[in-house]
Amino acid sequence: MHARLTELDWGHWGHEALELLRTLLRCDTTNPPGDEEKCAQSLAEFLRDGGVEPEVLVSAPGRANVVARVKGDGSLPPLLLAAHIDVVPAEPARWKHPPFAAEIHDGYLYGRGAIDMKNMAAMSAVVVRLLREIGGPLRRDVIFAAVADEEVGCHLGSRWLVDHHPDKVRAEYALGEIGGYSLYLNGRTLYPIQVAEKGVLWLKAKVEGTPGHGSMPRDDNPVTRLSEALAKIGRARLPAHVGEPVRRFVREMAANQPFPARHVLPLVLDERVGAFVIDKLLPDPSTRRVFHALLRNTVSPTVVRAGNKTNVIPATAEAELDGRIALGSSDSELLAELRAVAGPDVKFEVIDRQAPVSTSPDTELFALLSRVVADHDPGAVAIPFVIPGFTDARSWSRLGTRCYGFSPVRFDPRHDVKFADLYHGDDERIPVEGFQFGLRMLADAVFRFCAR
Ligand SMILES: [Zn+2]
Repeated sequence: MHARLTELDWGHWGHEALELLRTLLRCDTTNPPGDEEKCAQSLAEFLRDGGVEPEVLVSAPGRANVVARVKGDGSLPPLLLAAHIDVVPAEPARWKHPPFAAEIHDGYLYGRGAIDMKNMAAMSAVVVRLLREIGGPLRRDVIFAAVADEEVGCHLGSRWLVDHHPDKVRAEYALGEIGGYSLYLNGRTLYPIQVAEKGVLWLKAKVEGTPGHGSMPRDDNPVTRLSEALAKIGRARLPAHVGEPVRRFVREMAANQPFPARHVLPLVLDERVGAFVIDKLLPDPSTRRVFHALLRNTVSPTVVRAGNKTNVIPATAEAELDGRIALGSSDSELLAELRAVAGPDVKFEVIDRQAPVSTSPDTELFALLSRVVADHDPGAVAIPFVIPGFTDARSWSRLGTRCYGFSPVRFDPRHDVKFADLYHGDDERIPVEGFQFGLRMLADAVFRFCAR
């Protein structure tokens, strides 16, 4: 632990962080509509109380982002601590405890956003106050950003900040979503740290035909033809692309596993037998889906639109497709693979496009995070991690920022409560002790990286 942190009253700061997190969880920031302003104001107030002057930047009515900066001496470029404060919907009837009441039961704080990711917003706010109070002199500026709208594509949050206020958030490195949580696998403790995420290619697919009366079927009915194409697209398994970040993730994960996983896991990277290995040897369906998704471009049909009258054959049929670009592939390659499956009948139009994002784990900061993990949780190992989805890293990286997923929390190895089940799941909750453990880990990492 950094020398300046060893003397701190962690009971006090752990309590401050927990109470701040509870305040944030009580703000319903379900997106849509998001409505993050009140949550943003609570964070701003907490920072102000500690002498940090935040800016609340409103991107649209009710949609707010908080940015603050603790100045360093400028000898090194800034570090960004980033969290989104919007959350996905929660269905209260399916929860044991209400999703926006921030109740604590049996050592767990319940609430939508408890791990995704108001916990990081609360921890980062505390760390920024600590830097202000006892951190100086700093070698780098530390920037705090709590942003709106990640769950719906980042438009009014990180993307808006990068487009409209790039100088407020430009940093050499960012710590954010997803990673830094403990994962217990075959007797080993791992802390995945996200270094890369797949790209996005959202598309509209369109088929045109001749309108006509439903009483006289037509061969060129666009509904029939689009349906045929969608069935093929939805069931297709596109060719494997094994990007370097995925290779590294799988190898390091395997190296920290016992026999036989140690030998089996790397086989998923083999372009000829990988898919077979995933289907036959990986134990559970969600792990199989993740590995298939990481190793290839994917396209999921999600929205279908055609016709509005039972007895009229429409002139067009349309669908929206959620395409994701593999690390090591590109939007044009995905489109070519998709055209080969769908055939010439379907026209495609791009709705949204974002190249895959990746940061090498061979950096000073990743090495430091690995040491922090090992120091705080002896025997645990940090591994570079890749996700099929996207995070705000897609925006920060446009400014050249190297992004790592590090929002630390330690789950109790004796409980069967896993990050993967809680993320967007019912009864989202965070272990109170593990949250405060994460706070110390994050503070230590930031102090060691930024303070003298
Ligand atoms: Zn999230």
